[in-house]
Amino acid sequence: MDINRNTLPVKDIIPFANVDGSGNRTTIFVQGCNLNCIYCHNPETIKLPCEETEETKYTVEQLLDVIKQYAPYIRGITVSGGEATLYSSFLVDLFKEVKKLGLTCYVDTNGIFNREKIINLIEVTDKFLFDIKGINNLERVTRKSIEHSFDNLEYLLSLNKIEEVRTVCIEDYIDLEGTIREVSKHIKEYGDVIYKLIRVHYRGLTKDQIKAVKDSVPSKEKMIELERLAKSIGVKNIVTIL
Ligand code: SF4
Repeated sequence: MDINRNTLPVKDIIPFANVDGSGNRTTIFVQGCNLNCIYCHNPETIKLPCEETEETKYTVEQLLDVIKQYAPYIRGITVSGGEATLYSSFLVDLFKEVKKLGLTCYVDTNGIFNREKIINLIEVTDKFLFDIKGINNLERVTRKSIEHSFDNLEYLLSLNKIEEVRTVCIEDYIDLEGTIREVSKHIKEYGDVIYKLIRVHYRGLTKDQIKAVKDSVPSKEKMIELERLAKSIGVKNIVTIL
């Protein structure tokens, strides 16, 4: 899917962020996602742009004007969401201009995309922050009928375009150990790649979401066990968010 190439629906812009890739970065949150995760901490960005959603539409030039204000203080920009790859044509045009400012361009993705359709975006993106939501029962977590494509992860790893892989750790919904084992096998040879294990949390969640996840939050001890598991398989660079 590639929704619009003339404007980008933006829900929010954080001028300075240090959790969306390396260095100080400006993060742009797009409106619209192809999933509907039970634990999404930006649930207001899920709906595709429509009359009910409140977002600001930017042209490339307008967004560049915003980025230029922060350019002296940042290493680059990260487009997050929502799902950034839905807007690949627009982002190709934006990234080409942003690179002229000497800034790097990152994409935060849920990994569910048709690689052939975003090949131009892959080319101009410096690094991806890539979610792996689980290896089983994904429909329960994402509320969409999908399968994770480890092919997409492998492909981006082979191009040295992955900075970080992320798994939100939630019990009962997915095979947590199996997921961590599988991801670890894929990334262990890439020593620079960070594996971020995020303990599912309540920040930003609606009441219904909290109800759905509250009995499935892993204990801190469990998180440490998962970290040990990834290490034992050979992952060198693990960040565990408790
Ligand atoms: S993929 Fe990300 S933005 Fe989309 S619903 Fe899931 S957590 Fe939210």
